Amino acid sequence: MLEVKDMVVAYGRVNAVKGITFAVDQGQVVTLLGTNGAGKSTTLRSISGLLKLVSGEIWFEGERLDGLPAHKIVERGIAQSPEGRRLFRQMSVDDNLKLGAFSRKDTSAIRSDMDRVYDLFPVLGERRHQPAGLFSGGEQQMLAIGRAMMSQPKLLMLDEPSMGLSPIMTQTIMRTIQQLQSEGVTILLVEQNAQAALSLADKGYVLEVGKIMFSDTGRNLLGDDRVKRTYLGAD
Ligand code: ATP
Repeated sequence: MLEVKDMVVAYGRVNAVKGITFAVDQGQVVTLLGTNGAGKSTTLRSISGLLKLVSGEIWFEGERLDGLPAHKIVERGIAQSPEGRRLFRQMSVDDNLKLGAFSRKDTSAIRSDMDRVYDLFPVLGERRHQPAGLFSGGEQQMLAIGRAMMSQPKLLMLDEPSMGLSPIMTQTIMRTIQQLQSEGVTILLVEQNAQAALSLADKGYVLEVGKIMFSDTGRNLLGDDRVKRTYLGAD
């Protein structure tokens, strides 16, 4: 479904992503692991069209994606829930969700997608008219995921959805990811919590300083000594 080929991305003259190649198949949960600064967010932002590639290619459902403006990429079916959530804190839950549907005009379908988000996250529905800034970190994360869902993405990219959340809330978010996968959404997940991410990922790629070092199934990576040492805190 998604293919990234030899992608190089730079900030000024410094290459942050140094020629990475990876693929996401339809229906999979794929995770990108890496220490701080490895290039995970840069990779997601490049796929979203927010950063220009120095070289390489991005393909989605058989069509070339790199070079398209960000809103066209949303229209093709890719949505990103960014690191740090980036909600409009003064605006209500309802209005934040409506913004996620900016590329659509089908008002009644937008309504039913909002209801779907509220089914997924009842706490948001109960307080839909309150400003987003009043919600807890975990609830704001739910809203950020819900907002990304409002463009009806085929591929949903989540950048560190568990950041700053309690273990219980992290579990809730991970369960939601599984539920979205079971509903047919393909997911590209960037996570610091390697244990949580690998437990549900079909496939994982490990990035270090802008390069993919190795990849395997989530299950195999959970048992991999290199992953255990660096990402799972084992001796
Ligand atoms: P983290 O988990 O810390 O968010 P990451 O793997 O997502 O890390 P990126 O945010 O993609 O890493 O950063 C990759 C490299 O690019 C880092 O060296 C970072 O300092 C650099 N970088 C990121 N954003 C910018 C920017 N706007 N300008 C200059 N350099 C940047």
